[in-house]
Amino acid sequence: MVEIWCADRHGKTSPCVECRAFLDYAEQRLEKCPYGPAKPTCAKCPVHCYRHEQREHARRIMRHAGSKMLLRHPWLTVMHLLDKLRPVRHPMELRGSRKRFDRKPRA
Ligand SMILES: [Zn+2]
Repeated sequence: MVEIWCADRHGKTSPCVECRAFLDYAEQRLEKCPYGPAKPTCAKCPVHCYRHEQREHARRIMRHAGSKMLLRHPWLTVMHLLDKLRPVRHPMELRGSRKRFDRKPRA
């Protein structure tokens, strides 16, 4: 999606320095994602891991590239739409059961 954005906005065939930096940021956030591979779609995620500025930028990119994704990657787009329907639990909720187990009884 960043590629589509960069081609249209910056006229580049591969992501420019600015867009590359944004991709690096997104990758870093993804690495720290508590959901791992089970990550929900960002629009539905209860964890707001992006800084405000990057979050707004990601929104702009997705709004711009979203409709074009259907033509370029129809299968990915369909899978993403299905993924949006999946229920999401907060990571603290997932951790909750383990925490109860670890907690020592009060003296
Ligand atoms: Zn760019």
